[in-house]
Amino acid sequence: ALYQPPDITKPCYVRVNTLKLDVDSALHELGKQFKVQKDDMIPHLLVLPPHTDLHNHSLVLNGSIFVQGKASSMVAAVLDPKPGWEVLDACSAPGNKTVHLAALMKGKGKIIACELNKDRAKRLEDTIRLSGAANIEVLHGDFLNIDPKGPFSKVSAILLDPSCSGSGTAAQRLDHLLPSRTTDVVDTERLNKLAAFQKKALAHALSFTAVKRIVYSTCSINQIENEDVVNSILPLATSNGFQLATPFPQWQRRGLPVFEGSEHLLRTDPVEDKEGFFIALFVKKGSEKNSEE
Ligand code: SAM
Repeated sequence: ALYQPPDITKPCYVRVNTLKLDVDSALHELGKQFKVQKDDMIPHLLVLPPHTDLHNHSLVLNGSIFVQGKASSMVAAVLDPKPGWEVLDACSAPGNKTVHLAALMKGKGKIIACELNKDRAKRLEDTIRLSGAANIEVLHGDFLNIDPKGPFSKVSAILLDPSCSGSGTAAQRLDHLLPSRTTDVVDTERLNKLAAFQKKALAHALSFTAVKRIVYSTCSINQIENEDVVNSILPLATSNGFQLATPFPQWQRRGLPVFEGSEHLLRTDPVEDKEGFFIALFVKKGSEKNSEE
C-alpha cells in the first residue's frame, strides 16, 4: 500500500469530565488560550485546533477534561447508559470509556469495570481516581468467568471493547510500514486468535438476561475483528432477543457491506477521522425506549 502520512490537519478533541466541570466552564477556561468549540455530534466533546498540546494543562492534570479522540468518545455515548443503571465495562483498562460512562450516568447507579491484566487494572484505578467517579467497582479478573446468573445478573448494559489488533490507530498504522514487519502468516494467526476471543466475549455479553444494550467496539480496521465478528454472532443475538440498532444515523461511514444489516454498523477512518474505530450496537427488542431506572 502507498505510504500515507498521518493527517496532522485534523483537530484535537477533549472530553469534558462533567463529574468535575460543566461544559460552559470548560469552554470559558480553554477559550482564554485556544480557539475552542463544541463538537456537533458528541455531547461534552470539545474541538480544538490541530497540534494543541494539552497534556500539561491544569484541567487535564486535575481530571476536569480528558484528551480523548472523537471516535473513542462515540463508544460510551452510543451505549447511552442512564443515571441509576447497573453497567458492566467488560474489558476496561486504561478506563477512558469507563469514566465516560460514569459521567453520562451523572455518578448515579453502578459501573463494574472488569480488567484481566493486573498492571492495566492499576492504570484503570488511576483513571477512576482522576475522574472523581465514586460509583465504579473494579473487578480484576476474566470477563469470560463472570457468571451471567451471578451477582452481576442485573446489569442493564454492557460495553465490550476487547483486546484488538489496534490497526485503526496511528501508531499501529505506521508500524505496518516498517521493513521488519512481521510476516502475514503471523498477522493472520494473531488476527484469528483475537477474533476468536472477540466472538467468545460478545457471545458471553449476550448471555446476560437483564441486559438491554450492548456496544461492541474495536480500534481495528480489519473486517475479521469487526463485521465478521458481528455477523457470526447475529444468529445467537437474534435468538436471545437482540437486534442491531444504528448508532449516530447521521454518520456517513457505516460497516463494510458484507452482510445484510451491516449498514447499522459504524466505522471511522484512520486517516479521514484520525482514528479507525468500529462500533456495533445491539438492543433488546422491546427496550428501544430508554428509561431511567
Ligand atoms: N476500553 C478501554 C478504554 O477505553 O480505556 C480500552 C480497552 S483495551 C482495547 C482491552 C482491554 O481488555 C485490555 O486492557 C486487556 O487487558 C483487557 N482484557 C483482555 N482480555 C480480557 C478478559 N478476558 N477479561 C477482561 N479484560 C480483558
